[in-house]
Amino acid sequence: MRISIKNFTKTFGDTTVIKDMSLEIESGEMLALLGPSGCGKSTTLFSICGIHRMNAGRLQFGDKDVSKRPPQERNVGVVFQNYALYPHMDVHANIAFPLKVRKEPRTEIERKVREIAALVHIEELLQRKPSQLSGGQQQRVALARALVRKPDILLLDEPLANLDAKLRLEMRSEIRRIQQQTGITAVLVTHDQVEAMSMCDRIALMNKGDIVQVCKPKEMYDNPASDFVAGFLGNPP
Ligand code: ADP
Ligand code: MG
Repeated sequence: MRISIKNFTKTFGDTTVIKDMSLEIESGEMLALLGPSGCGKSTTLFSICGIHRMNAGRLQFGDKDVSKRPPQERNVGVVFQNYALYPHMDVHANIAFPLKVRKEPRTEIERKVREIAALVHIEELLQRKPSQLSGGQQQRVALARALVRKPDILLLDEPLANLDAKLRLEMRSEIRRIQQQTGITAVLVTHDQVEAMSMCDRIALMNKGDIVQVCKPKEMYDNPASDFVAGFLGNPP
């Protein structure tokens, strides 16, 4: 599903955090929202999924204006940095939860949980509690829960930040595999340029509440649009 953001502004009190931002994300594309801490990446993501209201501007999914729709009417799956799994529920119940809320029939729930567990490779973990899982396994469960309702759009906010270096590498390629296998439109928020470059079709680089360059990763390295872009790419974290 194509995402179109036009002249988006977001303020908290007197502070303008997003300034007249516009961005088009193609259907089936995985786009990185990259930039330094505090530049407004998470605010943008929360506005796309509807947790935050935009102060001005328009947000469209396909041809539909969703600017005023509540989160549950946007059909978006979200994975946050801290996986926020329900600790008292086993993996199966965690994944089934969004379907139970929608009162889907038990056989349908069972079919969908099995299907998504196979996709993210956690079939053998369904009876475990989150505390009995590694960080990478928890992240897989969070992905399964986000995808089980077959959302049009997948939003990922620093999904690898809590993982150690080895798991981070593994989950980079796993998230990309799952995105490509499902063909879902995805937005990855990250401050890590290597992550953005290795996982995404295009990068939108942000600075102080606006996008300063959007293009393919290689293009950004070959032709940085400003000193800020060159400086950001030249100083890996
Ligand atoms: P990033 O994800 O790029 O690190 P954020 O979108 O979280 O940045 O934050 C951008 C700016 O907006 C920061 O200066 C932050 O302090 C501010 N901000 C974010 N959320 C709120 C909020 N709920 N209330 C007030 N200020 C906020
Ligand atoms: Mg953030």
